[in-house]
Amino acid sequence: MNAVTKSASVAEIVTRVRRGVLIDGSWRPATGAATFEVEDPARGRSLGEVADGTPEDGLAALTAADDARSSWAATPPRHRGLILRRAYELLLRRKEQLAWLITLEMGKSLAESRAEVEYGANYLRWFGEEAVRIEGSWKVSEDGTARVLVMRQPVGPCLLITPWNAPLAMPARKIAPAVAAGCTMIVKPAPQTPLTTAALAETLIEAGLPDGVLNIVPTTDAAALTEPLLRDGRLRKLSFTGSTPVGRLLLSHAAGTVLRTSMELGGNAPFIVCRDADLDAAVTGAMTAKLRNIGEACIAANRFHVHAAVAERFSAKLAARMSELTLGPGTETGTDIGPLIDERQRRKVAELVEDTVAAGATVRIGGRIPAGPGYFYPPTVLTDVPPGSRISREEIFGPVAAIQTFEQESEALRAANDTEFGLVSYLYTRDLARAVRMSERLETGMVGLNRGYVSDASAPFGGMKQSGIGREGGNSGIEEYLEQKYVAVDAAEPEPEDGELPEESR
Ligand code: NAD
Repeated sequence: MNAVTKSASVAEIVTRVRRGVLIDGSWRPATGAATFEVEDPARGRSLGEVADGTPEDGLAALTAADDARSSWAATPPRHRGLILRRAYELLLRRKEQLAWLITLEMGKSLAESRAEVEYGANYLRWFGEEAVRIEGSWKVSEDGTARVLVMRQPVGPCLLITPWNAPLAMPARKIAPAVAAGCTMIVKPAPQTPLTTAALAETLIEAGLPDGVLNIVPTTDAAALTEPLLRDGRLRKLSFTGSTPVGRLLLSHAAGTVLRTSMELGGNAPFIVCRDADLDAAVTGAMTAKLRNIGEACIAANRFHVHAAVAERFSAKLAARMSELTLGPGTETGTDIGPLIDERQRRKVAELVEDTVAAGATVRIGGRIPAGPGYFYPPTVLTDVPPGSRISREEIFGPVAAIQTFEQESEALRAANDTEFGLVSYLYTRDLARAVRMSERLETGMVGLNRGYVSDASAPFGGMKQSGIGREGGNSGIEEYLEQKYVAVDAAEPEPEDGELPEESR
């Protein structure tokens, strides 16, 4: 794309997006007409204003979701599946515009944004297929006097709260199973990235989603918007993706109405490289696990535990590969690493690096904020990271690899599990028995075994410990949006004696 068509299409892509709150099928200004600005993190420029939803808008959205609840729950599963399939195809057809939108408001490179569109679309396809496979069961009770009929029914109106780091995939991963299950919903996107979520909603509406099923309320005051919803008995489910502290807070609110919850929270992924690992494969895996999404991913490798015998070779290779990357606005050709989301996030990454260096770590590459506009932070490799340092306890959410060494497998496992988080771990080894042993002992919901990438619509994504509750995707993902109902069917009527007719038949 040359410069002129590029700027023309940017303006076109951005202005075409709906900027209101979506309630009962219509986009409208927020109550009081307040708006907030969305910023391009690569240039610090405004991408325009979006409606700043109020608690009244939130409750209006819940009313719309509640009104649509019964009719939507009664639609044929194939109908719901076909809407998702059509939306999947529309997303792929619009991949380029959507990728630009993601890059403009979130910062990652266009190549990564295209991959996100595909990844997010896969959830629509997957759950479109799952909609027609919601199963129940029928069995004879233990004592033979009853039949146990189990059916699955949509849980009801859901509140879906999403983060900014994957503004298309994160809402898609929640909306798709909710639609497939027959639930209605209110989505509260992150204030940094409401445009992509609006574009996703438009696609679903165009694919045939009826009014009131999907309602969207962006806001700068998440607590004010969501607290009345969490207190309202019409809401039946909360699905949240975001940080563990906010997750804890929402769980405490959800306790008030004993709300069903799915929680996809923070991570602190260990990346373990054993002595017998294929080092080149481990470096390639580390590049993905560390740098995908500029390191701003819950599944980003956060702590590298490398066997002492191979640590120097691994670190040198990783530093060499990372130093080949180009930092710049995600929309520019040739950019590998875009900016971080905002100054607060960049400051946090810089402080973690400064702390680690002060504690004795060595900077192999990076570690310095570049001059100029945008919230850029360079790919950084730190070695000799002291065990227990702050960088190994907190989510970095930036392109910084912090490398520690170990001698014994048990030591690596102990270090890997020494965290309140338990989302994902990465393990590189060529020894099958070690791979099995360690995978079983790692206290995480997912393990990347000789692979730096675990995200897949067909797999159950989610964490143990304080990384979350429940799973998104895979065969169990739709269960998060379904209630089981058991009907005890009486079958205890005694057979009539030979020659004796029941009273009513005489
Ligand atoms: P965040 O917790 O600050 O915000 C997430 C969402 O919650 C946003 O929409 C935000 O507006 C909203 N929110 C914030 N305070 C709230 C409150 N008091 N009440 C209701 N809603 C509130 O997280 P973030 O910075 O947007 O995202 C980064 C975090 O998300 C990281 O910790 C990352 O690990 C996590 N994350 C987890 C997964 C996963 O699947 N486990 C995926 C992506 C991101």
